[in-house]
Amino acid sequence: MANRFQVRQHDIAYKFIAARDGEYCLQCKRKPPVKLQIDHADNNPDNWDPENLHLLCQKHNLELRGKPVAEHKKAIRDYSANNERERARERGRENTHLVKDMVDFRNASPEMKANSYYETQFREWLLTVIREQRLITKVEAANSGAEVVGCSPLTANRYLAKLTSSVGPLRESKDATGTIIISFK
Ligand SMILES: [Zn+2]
Repeated sequence: MANRFQVRQHDIAYKFIAARDGEYCLQCKRKPPVKLQIDHADNNPDNWDPENLHLLCQKHNLELRGKPVAEHKKAIRDYSANNERERARERGRENTHLVKDMVDFRNASPEMKANSYYETQFREWLLTVIREQRLITKVEAANSGAEVVGCSPLTANRYLAKLTSSVGPLRESKDATGTIIISFK
């Protein structure tokens, strides 16, 4: 009968192996709900060295446990190597997808999209604020605008420069304390 420490050790080891190798039988690749057991490659149930542990379905665990240690270890080595190659291929595919997505993203010119989105949002926000309170300091416009829209203050300042240019609806001026304020022309 397993004591609590052993049960806990088993659970920790199981999670570790599942994360390392994937949660399936190393030999036949069957997954839960098929019950998986922790295999000790050296046939020693007290050896909890991670290198010694792998997940196997009950059938294959029993099969390998009945073999001489050298044979058992070799089988595990072969299955592990195979599993590792497959997982590497899987990761390679994921990376390929990632690169492809990034290329598509670039082709769609997201920077321009994002820019025009931010700029529109910023413009709407700023014009509403100035309509309501007549003016805003330039620092406040850039910082709060950046916060509201989700861009950087630097970018907000660029939008602001357009809005206060000769063709924009806004103007810059200084108040009595020398603070730069933004208001309608
Ligand atoms: Zn199996």
